[in-house]
Amino acid sequence: MTDIKIGLETHVQLNTNSKLFCSCRNEQNVEPNTNVCPICLGHPGSKPRANKEVINQAFKVCKALELDFNEESVFARKTYFYPDMSKNYQVTQYDRPVAQNGRFEVKIKDKKKEIGIKRLHIEEDPARLVHEENYSKVDYNRAGTPLLEIVTDPDLKSSEEARTYLQQLAHVLEYLKVYSPVSDYSIKSDANISINGGERVEIKNITGTSAIEKALNYELSRQKQLTKRNKEVKQHTRRYNPDMGSTIKMREKETEEDYGYIVDPDLTTQKSKDVSNVEIPELPREKYRRFKKDYEIKDKIAESLVSDPGLAKAYEKLAQKHDTHIAATLLTGDLKKVLNYNDVAYSEAKLEIDWLSHLLELIEENRISDRNAEKALREIVENPRPIKEIIEELGLEKSSDDKVAQAVNKVIKNEEEAVKDYTSGDEGAINYLVGQVMQVTQGGADPKKTRELLLEELE
Ligand SMILES: [Zn+2]
Repeated sequence: MTDIKIGLETHVQLNTNSKLFCSCRNEQNVEPNTNVCPICLGHPGSKPRANKEVINQAFKVCKALELDFNEESVFARKTYFYPDMSKNYQVTQYDRPVAQNGRFEVKIKDKKKEIGIKRLHIEEDPARLVHEENYSKVDYNRAGTPLLEIVTDPDLKSSEEARTYLQQLAHVLEYLKVYSPVSDYSIKSDANISINGGERVEIKNITGTSAIEKALNYELSRQKQLTKRNKEVKQHTRRYNPDMGSTIKMREKETEEDYGYIVDPDLTTQKSKDVSNVEIPELPREKYRRFKKDYEIKDKIAESLVSDPGLAKAYEKLAQKHDTHIAATLLTGDLKKVLNYNDVAYSEAKLEIDWLSHLLELIEENRISDRNAEKALREIVENPRPIKEIIEELGLEKSSDDKVAQAVNKVIKNEEEAVKDYTSGDEGAINYLVGQVMQVTQGGADPKKTRELLLEELE
């Protein structure tokens, strides 16, 4: 058996209004080098100050991951020379980060597993380098963007576990509102891998939550091949290339001494004495348990509701005045299908609770067919407007029994041939007649009821 050890260092880019140490707008998709100032460009004599909102968001994540807070945390300078860092050092946290020693419970194939969280610290993102054919360009809009770095113990045992951990971590971060799944690129991970107690290889900059599995699979098979041929796996750093699906050697791994960390004398220490006041919302795991208990819904349904925070919130509102099972089935079935098809989360779809409530009323009173309910949902997602209008416009509500009876009589009168076929023993002709009634009522009649009515009339 191969003994695999994987540890992840995940960087989460925060979407605060301003950057980590200056008041520049934290926005990158604007003209290059416009959101810059002497602080984030590192001019001598400029004075950085830590953004309180960043510290606040870091505290929330620490609390959710059950980390031990340090009474005070300290910013440090990590020295290196590269064009993406005009100060020649990156401000990060070294021996006193915000917090350490936490744990995160993940569910891997229906089994619970605890992943140790070594530490969480705050650091600034360097500038962005754009490589052209013969030269490179630097965009300092990104310099000073706040990042949280979450470092696990080497507790992950396979590429699949690493992906599951990352997806469930991202889900918690989404609940804490420090990450939005719409911008998957705002999560980047470095992975450390070793097999059978060998040297550690680091893979840098794996973007998003799904590429991690592919990158690790490639690296694991590369290391296994080397071991098989009795070749040594040396400690070094590699880069993942998603287009080629492989990892490429970057450099021999630097040691921590190479970076010459020193305390940043420009930044004061960050006290965390009022950590007990940090409030965090109910997290996915707790919500899942509560939904199962309070609404008596199945595991998979509860999981599906909780997977989208907006959808979970809508469900709680609807469950107050509707049948909890019917509401859960509609939201996790047809509605989710339509949302997925349109590739939007619930909160992006701009639906109003009243609309869904009205639809549930029609379903509960058996006034709309399943097919037409789905049609109505498709319409409100694709072109949001009051569902009453849609149902009227498209005639989606079931015809009243009167209308169906009228349609039955009309069809019997007009379809003499088929009626004759049926009465002379061709039972299949009834299906054709049902179809005709459905056409006359524009799908509004209930097929089963229509059949019964036809049989009664033709007796
Ligand atoms: Zn700035």
